[in-house]
Amino acid sequence: MKKFICMITSAITLSACNMPKENPVTSPDTFDYNVEQFADIGILRYRVEGFESLSLQQKKMIYYLSQAAVAGRDIFFDQNGKWNLAIRRTLEAVYENYKGNRDNDQFKALEQYLKQVWFASGIHHHYSMDKFKPEFSKEFFAETVQSIDNSLLPLKEGESKEDLIANLSPVIFDPSIDAKRVNQAAGEDLIQTSACNYYEGVTQEEAESFYNNMKDLKDETPVSYGLNSRLVKKDGKIQELVWKTDGLYGEALKEVVYWLDKAKSVAENEAQQAYIEKLIDFNKSGDLKTFDEYAILWVKDTISDIDFVNGFTESYGDPLGMKASWESVVNFKNKEASKRTETISENAQWFEDHSPVDKRFKKETVKGISAKVITAAMLGGDCYPATPIGINLPNSNWIRRDHGSKSVTIENITKAYDMASLGNGFNEEFVWSDTEQDLMKKYGFISDNMHTDLHECLGHGSGKLLSGVDPDALKAYGSTLEEARADLFALYYIADPKLVELGLLPNGDAYKAEYYRYIMNGLMTQLTRIEPGKSVEESHMRNRQLIAKWIFEKGAPDNVIELKKRDGKTFVIINDYDKMRTLVGELLAEVQRIKSEGDYEAGKNLVENYGVKVDANLHKEILDRYARLQIKPYKGFVNPIYIPITNDEGEITDIKIAYDEGYAEQMLRYSKEFNALPTYNN
Ligand code: ZN
Repeated sequence: MKKFICMITSAITLSACNMPKENPVTSPDTFDYNVEQFADIGILRYRVEGFESLSLQQKKMIYYLSQAAVAGRDIFFDQNGKWNLAIRRTLEAVYENYKGNRDNDQFKALEQYLKQVWFASGIHHHYSMDKFKPEFSKEFFAETVQSIDNSLLPLKEGESKEDLIANLSPVIFDPSIDAKRVNQAAGEDLIQTSACNYYEGVTQEEAESFYNNMKDLKDETPVSYGLNSRLVKKDGKIQELVWKTDGLYGEALKEVVYWLDKAKSVAENEAQQAYIEKLIDFNKSGDLKTFDEYAILWVKDTISDIDFVNGFTESYGDPLGMKASWESVVNFKNKEASKRTETISENAQWFEDHSPVDKRFKKETVKGISAKVITAAMLGGDCYPATPIGINLPNSNWIRRDHGSKSVTIENITKAYDMASLGNGFNEEFVWSDTEQDLMKKYGFISDNMHTDLHECLGHGSGKLLSGVDPDALKAYGSTLEEARADLFALYYIADPKLVELGLLPNGDAYKAEYYRYIMNGLMTQLTRIEPGKSVEESHMRNRQLIAKWIFEKGAPDNVIELKKRDGKTFVIINDYDKMRTLVGELLAEVQRIKSEGDYEAGKNLVENYGVKVDANLHKEILDRYARLQIKPYKGFVNPIYIPITNDEGEITDIKIAYDEGYAEQMLRYSKEFNALPTYNN
């Protein structure tokens, strides 16, 4: 599971608009976090502090893993939609070879569209899941593609340029085709109305019964059914096409394995070597039991400094929440900051015992929650360029129950957000008074990081399912409710005097910064990410609105939270922080009950009643105020470059890190260096 950044810290200054790429960053004092902006996106860069002081062996390992992190990039494009690679490769050919006027509006619009496609790893917005609307014409597209040499275009055997244009044009320009990557609208066939490439020719009902037939609810240690395959109907028969080195996506997975194998040779210890070996086995066999064995070995390795995720991990991109997108994060431990999360982990049992949920749903023994603060060194697949700030894995419920989970806060990413947003005017516009602004100035960064720590280290790891309850019982509402559970756990404890006692927060006021930020975001400011007329769809956003609206409504008799107008602008005021915490506790108890019992109806009602609908007037007001600030609502990152230095014998003697690569430059390089996957994968 992942936690994504909320609005405030994701804000960015306007100054870097379309800054040219040549801004080499070497000195720490002049590190420039802003790279460029386009559409609704701001591109930042992150610093890998501490890389220079790693040993040569560790640097090599990070280099090999960083190659493995990019090697699976095209898998994610194809998972997001079957036309994505063809469209990206065609546009890249145009972008690099077009001889016409590159300053005209049509070409500029095509360039922006390509940047959006790179960012979203496909033609659908990474967050709203809606298909992008190109601002260049169908005619311009046809004309530019016509002008490109055949050898540069991703033509299939026997396919002409005219065919390619005819095939891609409707997908790009007709809004009714593949309108949504992941459709979550209740009552519709979620598979047939979603453009993602996890199913072919099957209905939702067929897919659900296919997997229900596989499941044995008495199995205490079930594999993650459907995790690593596309479900297709061929000749009337439903079957899985498994993603493995000699199966679907094999060409890319072979490259991943090549680099993992190199990383294995410089692993820090045998435990680490063993789990890399298992991961390689899994990539070769596609056997989900092997995947579980890997996950168990991985979660037990808490001594290595370097760590990574590489493979099919999160299932947010599948409307049924089973099939996992390919992703990678390479990182190493930030030892100083990890003292904070270690303190939380050491007290995990105390937190579990004192939580406001029913005893039946609590873990008697909280097993091995290992929590650390990490420095990201490379992002790939579903973690790039948009990236989470916290990750908690593995996702398998029984592995978490029996073996625990690893939880990380990615602090060089949160720091980059924070640095890039200094002075952008967001708080001045949306925060009610100096009192709240001061709270946020003083405690915003620390309380936000603390929320992430609690969400990841404790929230996702807390509670248990009653035996016999299907882990997928909440179906399409599962992700939202799981995020709500983790957020509520974090919100409940961030206000606990225990945190001050443990030295994790400076005083009893610090949590108020997070309470205020959370409610303001959930009730108002996250609406900046939603287009007029649309409702909330993404699961983290649904969760935040669900929590904020529920507390707002339940606290109304006591005036716990108010929405007040000043000069025609709406503001959030929290009148009673103590009472708000009580309500957080009540909702946590209910959401845990829903999860533990698999109460689908109650879960559905909570999400549909509080998490989805948008007040049109408030929405318009927030969008107008936000537009005046000219802040981009979404952020992502370019990666650093790792450059191996070799001696005359070809041995690596050092790895240098550089931060001077621009966004388009990086995307084009990745597309060229890691292009093993065919354009169409069937
Ligand atoms: Zn989460």
